[in-house]
Amino acid sequence: MLVTLQLSSLAPYYRSVKVNSIKTIVEQITLSIQEDNANAFTEDVFDLSYNNQLCMTFYSESGVEIFNADSLGVGCYINQNQYDKYGFLESIYLDEMSEKIEYVNNPRFENEMIIYGTKISSNLGSYYLVMNAQIEPVDSTVFIIQNQFIYISIFTLAVASFVSLIMSNRLSRPIIKMTKSAKQFAGGNHEVSFEYDGLSEVDELAYTLNFAKNEMEKTDELRRDLIANVSHDIKTPLTMIKAYAEMIQDISGNNPEKREEHLKVIIHEANHLDRLVSDMLELSKLQSGNMVLNKTNFNLVEVTESIISLFDGLLIKEGITIELIYPTPMYVNADEVKIGQVVYNFINNAIKYVGEDKKIIVKIAAKDEKTRLSVIDHGIGIAKENQKMIWDRYQKINKGHHRASEGSGLGLSISKGILHAHNAKYGVKSTVKKGSTFWFEL
Ligand code: ADP
Repeated sequence: MLVTLQLSSLAPYYRSVKVNSIKTIVEQITLSIQEDNANAFTEDVFDLSYNNQLCMTFYSESGVEIFNADSLGVGCYINQNQYDKYGFLESIYLDEMSEKIEYVNNPRFENEMIIYGTKISSNLGSYYLVMNAQIEPVDSTVFIIQNQFIYISIFTLAVASFVSLIMSNRLSRPIIKMTKSAKQFAGGNHEVSFEYDGLSEVDELAYTLNFAKNEMEKTDELRRDLIANVSHDIKTPLTMIKAYAEMIQDISGNNPEKREEHLKVIIHEANHLDRLVSDMLELSKLQSGNMVLNKTNFNLVEVTESIISLFDGLLIKEGITIELIYPTPMYVNADEVKIGQVVYNFINNAIKYVGEDKKIIVKIAAKDEKTRLSVIDHGIGIAKENQKMIWDRYQKINKGHHRASEGSGLGLSISKGILHAHNAKYGVKSTVKKGSTFWFEL
């Protein structure tokens, strides 16, 4: 762009500079004439002519040449026959123009000349001053500068290309590396990591990719855990069912008492399987956002009582007591079945992890215009760092606990989904070896 601009604008620009310098000279000559000193004037004119490489001719008002200063060494163009100097002078005179500029081609030297005419008035009378100068020196300057510009441009272009090559290499190298790592990761190599490079944008990308990678690894681990959990959870009751069915077939088929006992185990295990599959279905429904709430006003105390009664057999067997504390019937607006499920899960967990006192407290109370239900046990408790995790799918913290294998690891995440759908607050307060309180508010 610079070169194009210079090529097209340098010549006109220099021409205007030339005209301006001629005008300045005219001003100086006018001043010199007015000083009225013939010798000094002649000297001034010659100096100006020499310093500026121009030819000056003075004419009287009638067009007679008075004085001539030529420093061009090629003769004043205005004095040559080819040029209509009278016409030129006349046009200054007739048009009463203060100045006249013409560009002519000098056929003798084949160069362009500028001819400038003006009228100077002084105490001694009026004169026509005609100057001519070659533009050629200007053109040669233009030529040199234009040439220089071409070289500068080529040089700049080369340097710029080189610098951009280095820069783009510097930028693209880490991205190419990252793409390679991403491809490896996609191909199943989970060992790769996305390297930081010191460039903030690239580092941010690396950070995001590493984050995505870690999240994917977590999901992957969860998936593996899920398969292990689910297959374990399904396999245990299935083995029992198969074993007891075989026993009935081989041994107890004709013994009604034994058969009854074995059938009970089969039914119990089948129920467990059924629950597990229902839990999984429930959770997948929750996650796909397909849960429809069927909200009604119901008494939470009544619902809780009936859920506790479901555990009656187990409570008697294990010697566990559940104390239900409530002030009055507490009505809430929610999905009765689903909230019942949450209460069931909380109580079920409390029974699983009950403390040595074998006592569970279920408390329903009013709190800031809300109804809060808390299930309190004095069992093993949950460490602070695990308290958030247990609400996620397939998280079993107390894996060594004798009852841990009974659950699917889905109970709390289902409860969380249901409470979320109700916009209900919920949480756990727990201290290791002291016990836990699981609560929600409606
Ligand atoms: P699970 O079917 O394994 O009980 P949950 O989602 O109901 O699955 O619970 C997740 C985990 O939270 C449990 O495996 C257990 O480690 C922990 N947990 C839940 N309730 C209690 C509790 N009352 N006391 C101690 N740990 C609990």
